[in-house]
Amino acid sequence: MNKITVKDIDVNDKRVLMRVDFNVPIKEGKVTDDTRIRAALPTINYLLEHGAKLILMSHLGRPKGVVDEAKRMDPVAAKLSEILGKPVAKANETVGEEAKAKAMALKPGEVLLLENTRFNPGETKNDPEFSKKLAELGEIYVNDAFGTAHRAHASTVGVTQYLPVAAAGFLMGQELSALGSLLAHPEKPFVAILGGAKVSDKIGIIDKLSELCQVILIGGGMAFSFLKAQGMEIGKSLLDPDMDNVKRIMELCKSRNVVLGLPVDVVVAENIEGTGRIDTVSVENMPADLMGVDIGPESVKEFGKYIADAKTLFWNGPMGVFEVEAFAKGTMAVAEAVAEMKGVSVIGGGDSVAAVKKAGLSDKMTHISTGGGASLEFMEGKELPGIAALNDKTAVNA
Ligand code: ADP
Ligand code: MG
Repeated sequence: MNKITVKDIDVNDKRVLMRVDFNVPIKEGKVTDDTRIRAALPTINYLLEHGAKLILMSHLGRPKGVVDEAKRMDPVAAKLSEILGKPVAKANETVGEEAKAKAMALKPGEVLLLENTRFNPGETKNDPEFSKKLAELGEIYVNDAFGTAHRAHASTVGVTQYLPVAAAGFLMGQELSALGSLLAHPEKPFVAILGGAKVSDKIGIIDKLSELCQVILIGGGMAFSFLKAQGMEIGKSLLDPDMDNVKRIMELCKSRNVVLGLPVDVVVAENIEGTGRIDTVSVENMPADLMGVDIGPESVKEFGKYIADAKTLFWNGPMGVFEVEAFAKGTMAVAEAVAEMKGVSVIGGGDSVAAVKKAGLSDKMTHISTGGGASLEFMEGKELPGIAALNDKTAVNA
């Protein structure tokens, strides 16, 4: 990785302004899942142990530039304090006199959490004035929020203009090296598995994957556009309106000698809730009045052969509507197969990660990305603005 990390800088007695992803679920004033908070602990602990005065900031939900009482960071501060076993000061604003006074009062080893960055309209606009005010709070900038690195916001990009150093935290570093190694020197065969519902959003990634992979397996809602392009009846299944693009991608894979693996059988249902008729049919026999909601057992076997042989694997998007028990089998079986394969396995995407967790197989994967949209954009080969804004190793060390 060519970005400087917290290990490359002297943080002792410095106010370190760190962007984290504390966008956690909150119910009745309590954090219900602290995974994201815990994910930032290695960097937080490192900085505190090395004498930093730590100022943390994050967005929480989508308050759209105004104060929303239900989206204040107080429950997050309480949770972090509980985990760290020490007080966490909390500012009731992101920038301003109170935030500044609390930041200046910090002693080495102490922590302050700023208010929700998205209470300020300047955050998502990457506004220079707001960025400047954020920068005034710290002396060094650290970004450990990979999940928002694909957004050019004040707390991820603008702020770096006004501070001398912008470094990656450990979580960010892990993401960059895990995903970066897939792009740079993946061991062959490299198998990608794509699925999920955001078909139009995800089709772009296939362009890049077809340069890197020997096999691309497609399940979930994505598969039906491809089956339709092959002339199949797909009933009421999800369909990408841009069929020309789907056909172009099929041609592209063919010309690059990439195996494009599609389901051979599917679970079809009257509705997505699993309350109506359910059947398993071959893809040649899909009824016009039903929709495809999972890959079938034969497809699992076919996909499984490629997965078992893979040396590198990237998976984004569940194979079916895994939230419903009756439609979860394909996704769970693929998760098992990925867990058993011997090479490097990287899982990206919010729902895909949830599916792997649901299968209880998270610790069998090489890397589970914390960024949904960010990991996809990274794998498309795009430069993420939040990463581009960090200092390169050479630039600082020269
Ligand atoms: P990720 O969050 O991993 O990137 P997506 O958000 O694209 O994945 O898709 C996840 C959603 O796709 C899940 O809620 C799942 O129920 C849905 N899904 C998967 N297969 C189908 C299908 N055949 N038809 C409709 N929805 C599907
Ligand atoms: Mg999703």
